[in-house]
Amino acid sequence: MLDQDQLVERVKSYLPNLDEALLRKACEFSKEAHGSQKRESGDPYYQHPLEVAGIMSEMKLDLASIITALLHDTVEDTDVSLADIEKLFGTEVAKLVDGVTKLTKIEFQPDHIRQAENFRKLLVAMSEDIRVLLVKLADRMHNMRTLIYVKSPEKRLRIAHETMEIYAPLAERIGMQKIKNELQDLSFRELHPEAHKSIVSRLEYLRQEGTQLVERIVEHIEHTLKEADIKAYVYGREKTPCSIWQKMERKNMNFEQLSDIMAFRILVDGIPECYHALGAIHSTYHMIPNSFKDFISTPKDNGYKSLHTIVLGPEQQRIEVQIRTHEMHEIAEMGVAAHWSYKQGSLFLVDGKQYRWLRELLSILDQASGPEEFLENTKLEMYYEQVFCFTPKGNLIDLPRGATPVDFAYAVHSNVGHQCVGAKVNGRIVPLRTQLQNGDQVEIIRSKTQVPSAAWEKFVVTGKARSEIKRFLRTQQREEYISLGKAILSKAFKQEGQDMTEKELEPVVKAYKNKTLDDIYASVGEGTITRADIIKIVFPDRKQADPAKKSPFSFLGFNRNKVLKNEEDAISIKGLIPGMAMHFAGCCHPLPGDRIVGIVHTGKGITIHTIDCDMLENYSSTPERWIDVSWEKENNDDFHTGRIKAIVSHESGSLAMLANTIAKDMSNISNLKIVSRSTDFFEIMVDIDVRGTKHLSTIITDLRSKPCIHSVERYKS
Ligand code: MN
Repeated sequence: MLDQDQLVERVKSYLPNLDEALLRKACEFSKEAHGSQKRESGDPYYQHPLEVAGIMSEMKLDLASIITALLHDTVEDTDVSLADIEKLFGTEVAKLVDGVTKLTKIEFQPDHIRQAENFRKLLVAMSEDIRVLLVKLADRMHNMRTLIYVKSPEKRLRIAHETMEIYAPLAERIGMQKIKNELQDLSFRELHPEAHKSIVSRLEYLRQEGTQLVERIVEHIEHTLKEADIKAYVYGREKTPCSIWQKMERKNMNFEQLSDIMAFRILVDGIPECYHALGAIHSTYHMIPNSFKDFISTPKDNGYKSLHTIVLGPEQQRIEVQIRTHEMHEIAEMGVAAHWSYKQGSLFLVDGKQYRWLRELLSILDQASGPEEFLENTKLEMYYEQVFCFTPKGNLIDLPRGATPVDFAYAVHSNVGHQCVGAKVNGRIVPLRTQLQNGDQVEIIRSKTQVPSAAWEKFVVTGKARSEIKRFLRTQQREEYISLGKAILSKAFKQEGQDMTEKELEPVVKAYKNKTLDDIYASVGEGTITRADIIKIVFPDRKQADPAKKSPFSFLGFNRNKVLKNEEDAISIKGLIPGMAMHFAGCCHPLPGDRIVGIVHTGKGITIHTIDCDMLENYSSTPERWIDVSWEKENNDDFHTGRIKAIVSHESGSLAMLANTIAKDMSNISNLKIVSRSTDFFEIMVDIDVRGTKHLSTIITDLRSKPCIHSVERYKS
């Protein structure tokens, strides 16, 4: 068992200028924080962080990483706060400890093993600083080494499974072969105890059988290389039980058939020597066909470089031989952790496109002047463009960066998206346009009456959300066009003294061969087929009246209000949603209570203006586009934008007075613009949410009663 002095000595061996007092302070701090807590093994808890720090020191990591390892469980498991750590050990350590604590928290999400690949990505994405990930791996390593002390068999299995599926592959991803092998083997022992036992005893037996077999082969290889005048370090090893087992499974072989359970490594000084040595080996021993792999000219995705070959060894058994430089070897064993021990020397570059992060890592290393700076700059970029969030049940949803709760909802299911009215992120209600962060737990609040809003289209980032919203809006828009078209036609029929029935419309359906009746209604609503077109078909004998004369608006330019005598005749705009088949004109901001008129825009439905809007002059020559429309009588629940122009004194408190008055009248300011200002007055334009003209005039009257407000008018451009 490691103690404090040994740890200090180890770190000192590679960091000669170590701030020993600080390291010892961290040891003492951790010891005191964990106090009398015990591990399941019965050891004092403090031994765990100390051992984790020991593993970090094997990777020759910097002091901040070592201290982080010592403190990694304090925030989660003791009374210590991040602020305490920051005060005593600085921001860098506090940030790292915070990172590790966050990882520890998400570790306990249920069901994450099922989504191992995503979970690995999440761990990486959340680590941000590679040192956080390394502490987490070292933590897991020590927990695996002490797994046998965990009493609950279910817990042991879960931890082993998790290690096999998540942490071992992660170690491999960042190129740490040695850690990967140990994690895998420790998990294997727990997950397949029988297989583990039998492989270990087979290995034992072989070891006794072939006494000093490994040594004899090593000597033989050494001799071969010496003959070829190559300076090399040769050693042999047995493969790990787990890798033997995996090979047996993969190749469907039994242990006896599996001959290459011994592997030999040849370490040389440079790349030319690698190929040199390979030549010597291949010309001395028979090579097994198709077994040669050149990972020097084509490195693995994680940057691994080596030559692999299988030959018939000196004693006629198949052996695997790996040839690499010392540097490649250290990098293969230690992965990214090895990089900062190479201040100079040749760096290898990875060509794999999908491993941009590693290239970036290496290019940072290339530019960094020293190992400290390297660590400083090594933010994990691997999954930078993704965020990973949880459903309340713990399922992981993988989204592009910038995704919002609406994207999340659609990623879960299109119905969840359609019915989304709000979202809770980590238990707090947030606006739907909020950008999600890694590890966020997102709960979508749904309502059966909710429909997607056109506004969502502007902020969603996933293709799925966008296309689902578009599709929904298109369907809904069509339904609106259909009901609007129906209303327009039925009114046109009424003016002709007829009721509109499907029978009456038969000739129309015949005339438009490719259209259903609904298509025709929709076209009328949309404005691509006019009322007159339909009337001409249904009543062909009727003499087409002068449309201007027919139009109730033929008196244009006179008192328009007089014309809308019969409000019964008007088409109700009830149920039409602004932005779909109907738009409210931005010039006059019509409000419930105003006399209104609709103008048909081909392909866009109708725009609603107030009857006295100046813009209507533009349509005076096309009366067929005018439609008599009315508000639904009980339309009091919806808010509409009313625009007012006010002149207020340029004195303190006058704007507050204006805002308070509006609020008191149960309205809300949605926009405010200062049109002009002088020494004495402000002229401002205010958009307020009102229920109708009555509501607006109440507010205007109230505003007029305030001394600092000079004049208030409803404003129409
Ligand atoms: Mn721990």
